[in-house]
Amino acid sequence: MSDTPPTIVWYRQDLRIDDHQALFHAADRGRVVPVYIHDPDPHASRANGSSKPRPMGAASKWWLHHSLQALADSLDDLGSPLVMRSGDPAKVLRELCEQTGADQVAVNKAIDPVTDDWDDEIEDELESSDIELIRFAPDLLWTIGTVMTGDDSPYKVFTPFWKAAIQHQVVDPLDAPKKLKPPTTSPDSDDLESFNLIDPIGWDDGFMDRWTPGESSARKRFKSFRKNLIDSYHDTRNQLDEPGWSAMSPHLHFGEISPRRMWNILHTKHDLNNEKGPAAYARQLVWREFSCHLLNHFPETPSQPFREQFKDFPWASNPEHLKRWQRGQTGYPIVDAAMRQLWTQGWMPNRVRMVVASFLCKHLLISWTDPRWLEEQLHRLERHLPVRIGWVHRFD
Ligand SMILES: Cc1cc2nc3c(=O)[nH]c(=O)nc-3n(C[C@H](O)[C@H](O)[C@H](O)COP(=O)(O)OP(=O)(O)OC[C@H]3O[C@@H](n4cnc5c(N)ncnc54)[C@H](O)[C@@H]3O)c2cc1C
Repeated sequence: MSDTPPTIVWYRQDLRIDDHQALFHAADRGRVVPVYIHDPDPHASRANGSSKPRPMGAASKWWLHHSLQALADSLDDLGSPLVMRSGDPAKVLRELCEQTGADQVAVNKAIDPVTDDWDDEIEDELESSDIELIRFAPDLLWTIGTVMTGDDSPYKVFTPFWKAAIQHQVVDPLDAPKKLKPPTTSPDSDDLESFNLIDPIGWDDGFMDRWTPGESSARKRFKSFRKNLIDSYHDTRNQLDEPGWSAMSPHLHFGEISPRRMWNILHTKHDLNNEKGPAAYARQLVWREFSCHLLNHFPETPSQPFREQFKDFPWASNPEHLKRWQRGQTGYPIVDAAMRQLWTQGWMPNRVRMVVASFLCKHLLISWTDPRWLEEQLHRLERHLPVRIGWVHRFD
């Protein structure tokens, strides 16, 4: 009897084994070809598309390199090595299907609407070669459209969203497969180094002291946070002298841990009705959720103010002020410390994000809408959806 054809699992921002719907589906079906496609020029490769994914900043590339290495090691251990390729995803996926005999590509949807549009195009392209693109739900607690007001419109304010959201069940996370069946013909893989994700200048040298990308590190960080800090999180998350936060956001951004897994751990290991710290933390995960839901319902928010009255706001144009802000040379110690932390660690805690954002927009009166510095300077590691909402929201 012939085998079911292999399934390609197309990894993107879900660099993990645990609670991975596409991987779970593929493993359940039979042979699995896990693939990561580095698209060095997404703008060129999607010549027909109306929407393009945004290019990645240098810090994100650093993280991606190390996270891919960790994922490749885990998949090796499970028995089906990660195939890494460069190029236009639709073309690469077609080639890999030809080489392995795969007839399906399974993918977890991204949480941003731009990538979703892009996937529609890829789905059409694959379909013309009789390859099915199976799209699973994105890394969210509740699918977009589940949490809506009584008249089926999106919530625009957090507290009512939160109250409505927690009435809905969160689907239990899926366990990681214990073993994977590789394809009978193993396709070649490019070297990770050939993606050139690590900047030769070495400005990211300090990152390794601060971060360890990868799924097992994400799990360890979360565990250690729960053991040592979560009980006082409701008090300490805003203090700046000692870390009182989890620093899970880059791990979440690269999908090294799923929010469903975190939610499940919070609910099974803590009493959220009586423990203030864990309850406050669960609420912050709902903030992430709210941001992602908003962005999907209002996809124009990355470039347009949420409130109409700010549409024609007379922003200042002052390159010197902007440069000083970016370099941490404003003369305001808290702003400068935060921006320097961003430069050396690629990240900063929530409270100072509010401070630097507010300083830029309300004090220097420089707009948040210039994408060049927004992406390059502020959200070096996550470059995530809540980013933009953070900006838009705080300026209200
Ligand atoms: C100007 C500005 C820009 C921001 N940019 C980003 C960004 O690029 N990416 C990003 O993930 N978050 C962003 N946030 C939200 C928040 O600051 C970060 O999620 C948080 O600081 C990450 O650190 P942590 O993991 O230690 O958070 P914790 O306090 O430990 O919270 C745990 C998780 O909850 C979520 N969360 C916490 N606070 C928020 C919030 N206010 N909004 C949405 N989700 C939240 C995050 O997923 C976070 O990892 C921004 C906020 C502001 C004010």
